[in-house]
Amino acid sequence: MLQPDTFKDDILNWFKINQREMPWRETTNPYYIWISEVMLQQTQVKTVIDYYHRFTERFPTIEDLSMAEQDEVLKYWEGLGYYSRARNFHTAIQEVAESYHGKVPDNPEVFEKLKGVGPYTKAAVMSIAFDLPLPTVDGNVFRVWSRLNNDFSDTAKQSTRKAFENELMPYVETEAGQFNQAMMELGALICTPKSPLCLLCPVQSHCEAFQEGTVEKLPVKIKKVKKKTVHQDCFIIQNEKGEYLIEQRQAKLLNGMWEFPMYEQEESEQKLNALLDENIEVPDKPIFQLKHQFTHLTWNIKVYEIKEEISSDHFTLNSQFRWLKLSERNQFNFPASMHKILDYLEKENNKD
Ligand code: SF4
Repeated sequence: MLQPDTFKDDILNWFKINQREMPWRETTNPYYIWISEVMLQQTQVKTVIDYYHRFTERFPTIEDLSMAEQDEVLKYWEGLGYYSRARNFHTAIQEVAESYHGKVPDNPEVFEKLKGVGPYTKAAVMSIAFDLPLPTVDGNVFRVWSRLNNDFSDTAKQSTRKAFENELMPYVETEAGQFNQAMMELGALICTPKSPLCLLCPVQSHCEAFQEGTVEKLPVKIKKVKKKTVHQDCFIIQNEKGEYLIEQRQAKLLNGMWEFPMYEQEESEQKLNALLDENIEVPDKPIFQLKHQFTHLTWNIKVYEIKEEISSDHFTLNSQFRWLKLSERNQFNFPASMHKILDYLEKENNKD
């Protein structure tokens, strides 16, 4: 169980002795601390150190950086990647030079309005440079805090960030900068993503995940899967008896279900011609369009009616195909999108 009164002492005592040497830890200059925090986003400490030295030697003050050309600033960033960080930082520094007499604002609400300053940068710079009581919640802190509390909340959610910030608030009322850095350092050195060094951990006695044996399962981060859209052409093909050509799906998705012949748009004409062994052009306009939603996928289906009549002998030998009488639709297993087409055809036929 996490014991609030001794937890903070334990982690701070460990940090004081075990923290790594970093040049930005030897300064209280908010401008330098800000540079390091911007550089450290998405980049490892050992890569950042050289860049930090070169950058602060060339642009030792806010005034120096604010007066530099953007091209030169980007030159000093070359190799660090994510150049929008450098551009935004340069713009923010110019604003500090112009509007705040060249001094990094020590008011979080003012600071966060500067270009490129998100919740993490705000909390890091404000707490480390000015000791303001704001907790930093980065990937390391998400991991450490989830494990300490055996908390299975999804760390990809904004609501979890908010909840963690609230829970961490009491710990940053004093020594905010030290506490935040201690949490991040613990995540980097001991409570690592894989094979954390629990047996050497200074806060093991507070750690619920260690006690419950759930360390490897935390933190929880559920990736949002972006839905893919596939454009399909679906063909209504009739024979001389007024029956419709249907095909049994061989693909993994909806395997074994029946559909009107359907192909991805880019190859549909070629496949249709191969199927019918004739040179048929896909009509200019579909008769209608529909969507079929899967968990990770959407089909946008254009439904075309092929006017040419196809001989019923054409497919008798291939078990993958059938000629369907509309009255027999219930004997086949169709997905919802195909039922919409069948409903349409029934309606059209009833008009005749
Ligand atoms: Fe992380 Fe293990 Fe320490 Fe818990 S005991 S905080 S899981 S290193």
